[in-house]
Amino acid sequence: MIPPLPHIKAMQAYALADLKSPPGKRLISLSQNECLRPPSPNVTRAAEAALAEAQLYPDPNWNALRGAISAHYGVPADQILLGNGSLELIGCLTRAYADADNAVLVPRHSYPFFRTAAQFADARVDLADEVDLAVSVDHLLQATAPDTRIVFVANPGNPTGTRISQAKLRRLRAGLDAQVLLVIDEAYGEFADHLNEPVFDMVGLGNTVILRSFSKAYGLAGFRVGWGLFPPDIANNLRKLMNPNNLPAVSQAAAMAAVEDPDYMRETCVLTGVLRQQICARLVKAGFAVKDSFTNFLLIRFKSGAQAQKADAALRAEGIYLRLQSGAGLGHCLRMTIGGMEDNQIAVEALTRWAEKEKI
Ligand SMILES: *Cc1c(COP(=O)(O)O)cnc(C)c1O
Repeated sequence: MIPPLPHIKAMQAYALADLKSPPGKRLISLSQNECLRPPSPNVTRAAEAALAEAQLYPDPNWNALRGAISAHYGVPADQILLGNGSLELIGCLTRAYADADNAVLVPRHSYPFFRTAAQFADARVDLADEVDLAVSVDHLLQATAPDTRIVFVANPGNPTGTRISQAKLRRLRAGLDAQVLLVIDEAYGEFADHLNEPVFDMVGLGNTVILRSFSKAYGLAGFRVGWGLFPPDIANNLRKLMNPNNLPAVSQAAAMAAVEDPDYMRETCVLTGVLRQQICARLVKAGFAVKDSFTNFLLIRFKSGAQAQKADAALRAEGIYLRLQSGAGLGHCLRMTIGGMEDNQIAVEALTRWAEKEKI
């Protein structure tokens, strides 16, 4: 068999949740940070209409969707690129800007896909310590090396659920060498937009990219739509690596309808926040170490990795899937997505029973 390139051979495939419903039981997945409710009815209607023209290629330049994003987020349409999920954009960024001669720097407990993307490019991965599970600008700046090419920061973070202020992100940009590419991944940005700390203007500072996704607050994970705001030169080079026609017409139509129904999305965020705070309080009462987050999930900390695994196994046996966070260097943590009311209820009750039995 033909051998793959050595850095591909050495790579582990990116692990997504392996969901299996136990015999005779309904599967409850609170493992992938999916939205607690389906998309706006306008989205379903727009997607259905687009299906009737599926013999046609989609708009390769996403013009209508770009225009709608531009109008709703107040950003220039010609600096927007649409990805097949923001994961496509992350993967293309590392392949365009990093290689075996340099490094990608990420916070220690950041989104594991940043590391996978660095491996696509055969780049070294450097880790910066965090403080109280939050990104530390000082540690990131200390951890930069002469060959650091890209710094990835998810804000709010996954799986930590914490967030750093706009002022701190600006301090990070100012402290980094101007030649280092800073990528700020705001996949959960909509859940924190009420704090009114936009950073889109940082793209004007040069070598800075902001990413957003339709997968979380808009509830469009199945349509695979992510977008980013890029300096023009970076956008031009990134496009060379992206597959032409990367975004199905039905996905473009769905995302367009979603962005044009911002009230529905904001209602989703409010509902998520209310349920998240209730669940957080109930888990704390049951004895778990958990803090409220800025996202649609909670990170539950256990005394040890063994305990977290034991709890995970007990829940799985009941068909309830949370997500162990060993991939992010947090093997003692389980991440619980805020789902629909009934699923949350069942999961919290199962966790509470487990805590009583284990006397945590
Ligand atoms: C969910 C998530 C994404 C990605 O999503 P797409 O579905 O590819 O748009 C990107 N970054 C973080 C931190 C995420 O949690």
